[in-house]
Parts: sequence; C-alpha cells; structure tokens
Amino acid sequence: MATIMANHLKVIRTVSSLRRALELRRRQSDRVALVPTMGALHRGHMALVREAQRRSKRVVVSIFVNPTQFAPNEDFASYPRSFATDLKILRDAKVDFVWAPPVEVMYPDGFATRLAPEGPAKAGLEDQFRPHFFGGVATVVAKLFTQVSPDFALFGQKDYQQLRVVTQMARDLDLPVKVIGVPTVREPDGLALSSRNAYLSATERAVAPMIYRVLKGCATRIKSGEKVDRVLNVGRIEFDLAGFALDYLEARHAMTLAPITSPKDGPIRLLAAARIGKTRLIDNIAV
Ligand code: AMP
Repeated sequence: MATIMANHLKVIRTVSSLRRALELRRRQSDRVALVPTMGALHRGHMALVREAQRRSKRVVVSIFVNPTQFAPNEDFASYPRSFATDLKILRDAKVDFVWAPPVEVMYPDGFATRLAPEGPAKAGLEDQFRPHFFGGVATVVAKLFTQVSPDFALFGQKDYQQLRVVTQMARDLDLPVKVIGVPTVREPDGLALSSRNAYLSATERAVAPMIYRVLKGCATRIKSGEKVDRVLNVGRIEFDLAGFALDYLEARHAMTLAPITSPKDGPIRLLAAARIGKTRLIDNIAV
C-alpha cells in the first residue's frame, strides 16, 4: 500500500500518491509548505514545522536520508534513524503529510542526473571538506521541490551554507518556491541541536557548547571594532585549546559567502566546523 493513514497524518511513499494527495489540496487553493529533513527529528526540525504551519494550511515534512550527499567515508549507514518516533512527533504536531520515499523511488534504476551548484556551493567552507555534499543536496532538494511543488520551503540557518545554496538553486532554476531560513534552535548551554549530537560522549558533550561560545565571543569583538582577521586568529586558538580539530572558522558576507574583512563591506556571518572525537559539528551566527 502506497499510503498509510495515521490519524490525519498521511505517510506517502510514491510520487504518484504524493501528487494525488496534494492535487486535492491545491483544488481547495490551500498553500503548501515543505520541510525537508533526514529524520531523527528534534526541536530544531519542529521550529521549521511551526514556521511552515504559520505560513501554510498544508505542511509536508519529507524524511529521506539522502545517500548522494554522503561521501563513502561518511556516516550514511550509521546516520540516526527513528522513523516510528518521528511519525509520533509529527502526528502530535498535526502535520498533514510525511513524504518518505524509499531510495529506489527517489533514485530509480538508471537515474543519471546530478546538479553541480557553484557560487555559494563553492565558497570554500563545507565544500572543501565534503566535496560531494552540495551536489547531492541540490539534486535531492530540486527533486523534492518538483515532487511537492511547495509555495514555501523551510530550511534551518543551522546549515547556513546549505540555506544559501538551496536559495540560489531555486532562483537559478526559476522554481516557484519561496525558500525561508529559520533561526537555529539551541540547547540551554548554546549547543545547536543536531541529529549528530547523539554521537557525542558525555565528555565531548560537555565541551561541544564551546563552538557557540567562541562564535559569540568573535562576533562581540568584531562588533566592538576589532579587526576581523585578528579576532578569527584568536578564535582559532580558542578552538585548539578546547580540544577541537578545527576545519574552519571564517567570516563571510552573509548573502554571497564571499570572504569579508570589515563590517563596512556588508553583513557578516561567522561560520565554523570542528571535530571533537569522531563527531563533526557545524555552527554559525550573524555578527
Ligand atoms: P537534517 O535533518 O539535519 O537534514 O535537517 C533538516 C532541516 O532542519 C535543515 O534545514 C536543517 O538546517 C534544519 N535544522 C537542523 N538542526 C536545526 C536547529 N538546531 N535549528 C534549526 N534548524 C535546524
């Protein structure tokens, strides 16, 4: 059976049943908002759901752990999966549709097209460390956009470069969807919520909020007029001393992600990726 009913939450597994379900809504002129996720839902995802519900009568949450955005050495096989719990959370939140295509529905035999995003996807941030990543993300998000045809699509600022890449992709391909960035939801100690936080040991978890603390310290010093390069150099040392292996700590133009050396040259976003033990965490904040 392609469609499973669960209260009023519908779990949809095929493109044709998705189209049928949404067609009915469209005839009633309901707006549709899409929240793309890889499941293992937490309060960060649910902030996107709430914003989607604020903007649209009908909300589709997609749950798809997208193999094409993982490199062979990354955590595709072990990525946290909790489909039954996710459904309960979404049912309680009164979400209408869960779009959960099996891998062979998203990438049928013979699938042969992959987007090659540039611009923000080549900013020298995540792309330097995960060269597969944005090609896979842009391809699956373009497919989600054409499958669901949402009026709105909600993405977390937590994955800031991804938000810029998806916004650019929708614009470049004339996809009639408004991409909206939702502020990062954090633990009380500042750690950004992430499905990958589940990988942290107790000791690593205790150190992890340093990422946000360093970012905030850097933002404050830049705002008070200290030179950006100097602030970043101090920040990099702070990461080092806290026991992180830092992939990057950068100041970028908030829209283009181009390097920026002064707040006079535009809005600044600070972005960092750091490894602690086997876990890689990313975070970012506005200056
Ligand atoms: P993921 O399931 O990790 O692919 O994330 C799905 C969506 O949720 C993405 O748009 C993420 O940016 C967003 N997201 C993840 N963590 C958070 C968070 N802590 N706050 C806000 N949005 C988030």
